Amino acid sequence: MRKGSKIYSVFHFLCPKCHEGRFFISAPYRLKTTGDVEESCNKCGNNNMLEPGFYQGAMYVSYGLGVALFVGIWAGTSFFTPGMQSWLQISLVAISSIGLSPLLYSLSKIIYANIFIRYDMDAVAKHTKPLK
Ligand SMILES: [Zn+2]
Repeated sequence: MRKGSKIYSVFHFLCPKCHEGRFFISAPYRLKTTGDVEESCNKCGNNNMLEPGFYQGAMYVSYGLGVALFVGIWAGTSFFTPGMQSWLQISLVAISSIGLSPLLYSLSKIIYANIFIRYDMDAVAKHTKPLK
């Protein structure tokens, strides 16, 4: 996981364009501002609000993450504890879905942004370069 890959931006919650500036206003579990995106990057000036309602598309990513979580828990409990009752599996899925929802919400937004915003290694230099 090195700078320049989308995985780096996603798991460090950094600007998709420069991979240096913060993408979110706060950490995922600060519930008052969960998932609130900085309007522009403080390092490269990238506009994180590409258009009004841009992050509504992130709900599809969130749905995918939720399904992956459900399938992962179901497959894991079925494989490692074959006799586990269904109500216990459902409870595990429900508890983890609620507990991880701020993290999944934030992850879905930054994954969605990384689909549309490309990494630019010179983004910070271009932004701080004085105009002639
Ligand atoms: Zn940036």
